[in-house]
Amino acid sequence: MGGFGSGNHWRCGTRNTVDDMKELRIAKLASDGWLDSGRTCSYAWSRTGSTIGDIQVSAAAGHILLNYRSRDNGGAWQDQCYPVQIDRTPCHLGGARPWFLCPARGCGNRVAVLYGGAIFACRSCHGLGYPSENENRRDRATRRADKLRDRLEWPPGIFEGSGWGRPKHMHHATYQRLVSEYEEREAEALGLTMDWLLRFNKCRGD
Ligand SMILES: [Zn+2]
Repeated sequence: MGGFGSGNHWRCGTRNTVDDMKELRIAKLASDGWLDSGRTCSYAWSRTGSTIGDIQVSAAAGHILLNYRSRDNGGAWQDQCYPVQIDRTPCHLGGARPWFLCPARGCGNRVAVLYGGAIFACRSCHGLGYPSENENRRDRATRRADKLRDRLEWPPGIFEGSGWGRPKHMHHATYQRLVSEYEEREAEALGLTMDWLLRFNKCRGD
């Protein structure tokens, strides 16, 4: 967690800022060379002077990998990472025009712009209100699990496991209660996270 946008990632020399809407335009990415395989570039969005999100785009053959943090309503930052396939159609003047294939499950629309919420997806996916219900649950479960980790003085992150032991000053009974509560939260958060990851793996076609 963290460290993103802290300086090292701005490899393309300029830090682009787009007001208000978080969107990725493939024409801009292509003209700036961000689709060239092997390149990693970064991009930040701000609203009224404060950063509302930033993203790292790594290009490989046939897809780009999005790596970013998102936050809603000033809540905790969430790390996100998943691939978006790039399709190309021939231009009548020669060459090929690139498109995103929307990464949302069951969509795969060929589009020129992806819009960011917790995930980047095409306009129609966002218009259908598609992702929010499940992702809000996932975020909430992860936040609750992390809050318990904090009370247990364990390092943050549900992937860090639960074998960190009892803080010296904590009563055994309290510790047991917090651990069992934590394990429930962790199972819920991991389950929802897996659902979410599987959705993207499925889109990737492997
Ligand atoms: Zn879509």
